[in-house]
Amino acid sequence: MLISAEQIRRRVEELGEAIAKDHPHGSLCLIGVLKGSFMFLADLVRAVPRSLRLDFVTAASYGSATETSGEVRLLQDATLEISGCPVVLVEDIVDTGITLGFLLDHLRSKRPASLRVAALLDKPARHRRDVTIDYVGFRIGEEFVVGYGLDLAEEYRQLPDIYVVRQPQA
Ligand code: 5GP
Repeated sequence: MLISAEQIRRRVEELGEAIAKDHPHGSLCLIGVLKGSFMFLADLVRAVPRSLRLDFVTAASYGSATETSGEVRLLQDATLEISGCPVVLVEDIVDTGITLGFLLDHLRSKRPASLRVAALLDKPARHRRDVTIDYVGFRIGEEFVVGYGLDLAEEYRQLPDIYVVRQPQA
C-alpha cells in the first residue's frame, strides 16, 4: 500500500480547510474531472465549509492504459455557469500535466472570477507542461497507482487505499 485511507482522510480535511480559507466570501464552484476524481471530490466537498456548486468535466487522452499520448479531448463539458464564480478544478492525479493544462485553458475561456487547482496526487518528476497546483494531497514518484477513484483499465477504483501496480521502467 502506498497511501492509506486514514492518511487520505486527514489530508483531505487539511485541503478542505485551505480551500475554505482562500475563498472566504460567497459561493464556490467545484469542477471535478471524471472519472478518477469522484471519490476525492465526494470527500472534499464535505471538508470545505462553504456554500458550493458542483459540476463535472470528462476528459480523455489517447494512449495506452498507463501512458498518455499527449492528445486530450473534452468528452463532456460542465453546464454550470462559472463566469464570475471562483472555481476550483478537482483532479485525481497530475502526471504529465497535459490534461490539466488543457482543462485550465478550457475553463479560463469561460471567465471564472478565479481558477485554482486541487489534485489528490502529483507526480512532479513526470510533468511535461508547466502547471501550478494550488492544493496537492500527496507528491509521489513515477509509479502507476490505483485505488480511491483511480483505475487500471476501469478496475480498482473502489479501493479505499492507494496502491502501486507497476514500478517505473528503468
Ligand atoms: P496527464 O495528462 O497529467 O499525463 O494525465 C492525467 C490523467 O492520467 C489522470 O487524470 C489519470 O486519469 C491518468 N493517470 C496518470 N497517472 C496515473 C496513475 O498513476 N494512475 C492512474 N490510475 N491514472 C493515472
